[in-house]
Amino acid sequence: MNLKSAWSRRSFLSTFSVALGGLWSVRNAKAATLMAGGPYTAPLGGGASAIRSGLGSTGDIYAELGVVPVINGAGTYTILGGSLMYPEVIEAMRLGNEKFVNINDLEVAAGKKMAELCKMPEGYTGLVTAGAAAALLVGYAAILTGDNPQYIQQIPDLTGMPKSEVIIQKSHRYPFDHQVRQTGVKLVEVVTREDLIAAINPRTAALHFTNLFNEKGHVKVDEFVQIAHQHNLPAFNDAAADTPPISRLWKYTEMGYDLVTFSGGKDIRGPQAAGLLMGKQELIRCALLNMSPQEDTIGRPCKVGKEEICGMLKALELFVASDQDAILKQYYAQLGRISDVVTKIPGVKTSYDFNPKQIANHTVSLKISWDPDKISLTTKQVMQQLAATRPRSIRVGGNGDDEKKSKNPAVEVTAWQMQSGDELIIANRLSEILQSAPSAS
Ligand SMILES: *Cc1c(COP(=O)(O)O)cnc(C)c1O
Repeated sequence: MNLKSAWSRRSFLSTFSVALGGLWSVRNAKAATLMAGGPYTAPLGGGASAIRSGLGSTGDIYAELGVVPVINGAGTYTILGGSLMYPEVIEAMRLGNEKFVNINDLEVAAGKKMAELCKMPEGYTGLVTAGAAAALLVGYAAILTGDNPQYIQQIPDLTGMPKSEVIIQKSHRYPFDHQVRQTGVKLVEVVTREDLIAAINPRTAALHFTNLFNEKGHVKVDEFVQIAHQHNLPAFNDAAADTPPISRLWKYTEMGYDLVTFSGGKDIRGPQAAGLLMGKQELIRCALLNMSPQEDTIGRPCKVGKEEICGMLKALELFVASDQDAILKQYYAQLGRISDVVTKIPGVKTSYDFNPKQIANHTVSLKISWDPDKISLTTKQVMQQLAATRPRSIRVGGNGDDEKKSKNPAVEVTAWQMQSGDELIIANRLSEILQSAPSAS
């Protein structure tokens, strides 16, 4: 996966929509034959069903609904379903569904469990939210309203309220600042450290940091929170996609950030509609006042059920205890199998791409490139053919900035969210596509 350019996931997404529009109905009989007898095993479930009749009884609920399932060689994309939960997480959700409970009491207890698992400093706690985007909304709502019932009811109308601005570095603007703006605040863009300090005024509510852009901004993650605190302002760090490493879960609260969020449904593998908000106890208390189950609040659409809360905590517990070195080794092994198969084709080369400096979506990927003089296919054409594969569509990453340059065609495959066995399906299908290309003469 290539996230070197600003929000370059867009290139992946645009190819996805092309595939949706253009190739949705393409049938590939040859691929279907290959798949049917394929080596696919699904350690995370799959195949059998406990449901005896009706929807789900065949064990392939997506086929029953007529929706094409995906082999994920691309990573944690919300549009592809993010990640898969481990059976223990599903079991925790099932247990959560066995009894009624007061959701506010459960949230407070979940916060304590989160504080323990994420080694939060004294005076911090957590909240299970409906994802990191929801955490941004209810976190900023908390900063703006405190526990004032009038303010909680009126936002995003900030009339008569003391604060209405959030400062952000220009290079940290991103699609999720929509959730900050959703609270009614105005974002004030700054570039340098001096701009940042000069922009602070009595209307300033908080300072926002987008963790993955740490390198791009003038003010880095540690200095940013210091400046906020020197001016008695809270700082929020959005680190949604920034695990692994596991230690990121405690790094930013340790630095003093007042609020920090992580997605629950990315590599932590919790329920898709869940996320973690951690922060100073008073802010977390006010964030809960601004969200479901409380009514007449800005966060009422951000509902988290008892099942998501239980599943999220179990996923977090498993993630904190996981052996990331062993997991990475397994990813290298899966990618190695793909490399072994495709490099048999003349003109095809592979290399591992692992950038230790990358903050978000930190994992290894295999870059598969080909000589366009020997194989006359563009990156886009290969991605489209992979996406048109049946019975499961294959999704991989593009070649970032090189994608448009037909001179260096390549795709990037990650084993990050790939189910074991899927690497062989990708390897065989990719070989088939590359070998069937009209050879350039
Ligand atoms: C994915 C992501 C989000 C949104 O997270 P959800 O858990 O899907 O709501 C917010 N910020 C960043 C930087 C992200 O990568």
